[in-house]
Amino acid sequence: MAKKLVWAARPFGYGDDYPMLDVGQVIEIEVGRQPNDEKLLRLGLLREVDSKPVQCGRCPAQFLNDGHLNRHGRNRHRVSAAVSGRQEMPEADLQTAEALGNLRALEAADEFAEKTIPLDLSKTKASQGESKRARASR
Ligand SMILES: [Zn+2]
Repeated sequence: MAKKLVWAARPFGYGDDYPMLDVGQVIEIEVGRQPNDEKLLRLGLLREVDSKPVQCGRCPAQFLNDGHLNRHGRNRHRVSAAVSGRQEMPEADLQTAEALGNLRALEAADEFAEKTIPLDLSKTKASQGESKRARASR
């Protein structure tokens, strides 16, 4: 199985390792280990990385570029940073705040991705051979 470094063009869960990927998050996949790998690549939900990813300073996640990393930082780490000075906040409320923050962040990321990273949904199995030929003839 070929290993590939890819980034996510939409927020979605990928296998057990990544319950929720952020837009622009870079992961290494073994193509074919997950049943939908080929489809995800074909539809452009996962895209090959051809540059050095940037590392988040606060979690193990890597990103395609600083823009995606900053976005991830704002969405994923802002809530915990904002409440870190308030020790009196009960753990349950803290988790709710985190969950709400993440939910809003996901919605925002989804909207952002819709606007900035269009998917080519015409790349179905049937049309793929054709588009490959079209590219080759250019
Ligand atoms: Zn992070």
